[in-house]
Amino acid sequence: MTHNPPVFEVLPRDLGAYRQGNAGVDYVHRFASGKPGPHVLINALTHGNEICGMVAATHLLDTGIRPLVGTLTISFANVAAYESFDPARPFESRQLVHNLNRVWSIDELEGVQDSPELRRARELRPVVAAADHILDIHSTSQDVEPFWVYPGYARNAAAALALGRPPVHLVMPRGLGSGTPLIQHGRHGQAEGQGVALVVECGQHFRQSAADVATQAALDFLAHFGLVERAVPPPAPLAQRRFELLETCMVRTADFRFVQPLVGFEVFAQGDLIATDGPQELRAPCDACTVFMPTREPIVGREAVYLTRPLD
Ligand SMILES: [Zn+2]
Repeated sequence: MTHNPPVFEVLPRDLGAYRQGNAGVDYVHRFASGKPGPHVLINALTHGNEICGMVAATHLLDTGIRPLVGTLTISFANVAAYESFDPARPFESRQLVHNLNRVWSIDELEGVQDSPELRRARELRPVVAAADHILDIHSTSQDVEPFWVYPGYARNAAAALALGRPPVHLVMPRGLGSGTPLIQHGRHGQAEGQGVALVVECGQHFRQSAADVATQAALDFLAHFGLVERAVPPPAPLAQRRFELLETCMVRTADFRFVQPLVGFEVFAQGDLIATDGPQELRAPCDACTVFMPTREPIVGREAVYLTRPLD
């Protein structure tokens, strides 16, 4: 596979000034309004090289944001991976050992394995568990339009549709299939649970546009729950496009190859060949099968691509 090198419009900055928080956990900042209202968590850097979230979180902190009601918590998750950033290998700092966005099951959190990510998840667990509503800010390796990702609970869909931008939704009716993401920890992973938990994928990691989308999404999310004033005038409504996750395909062999370069949003007809993985063929399971987040570099045991179909 050939790839254009990424354009670095936004680069990591030193987060030392944000280390000392006030919630008992490094890089976690909490502001209580003293008035009744929801506890909202804005979380950045679940993946270390997804720096749009860092831009949004530092924007909130640097502008001295305070909630009008309820409580606001702002966190930087995988700072250790973030600090490993090397512009010569900009995709490596996604994680050090484990994917911090796949370890939020009780089994992993209370298991015997150890890694920087598992230690950090165990530190952040009470922070995540304390939040009524969660926005987890991410970005994509490929330069594609922004989209929401969320478990297919009505409460998540209602919030994402009300937020309205970005206007693309990847809905997971049966979870992710490759581990438990932060937004499905505890009650946020239960159909009968309470509270909204969304991922926003803001565009390509190093684009200024992704940083702008992240900041706007964070402010929109806070306004939705009444923690900050709504933007005036409100954004014009956009036509919403929703996709249902059918399958999370994993890389099984070192011979994994897409049949053509993919960046995401390519559409395949039922039976079309999408990739080969050693002796296995990956074919579209339905018409209008739309791929999300194809991997830039296949790594055995990691995700290869998400297969979806449009939702009416
Ligand atoms: Zn991510």
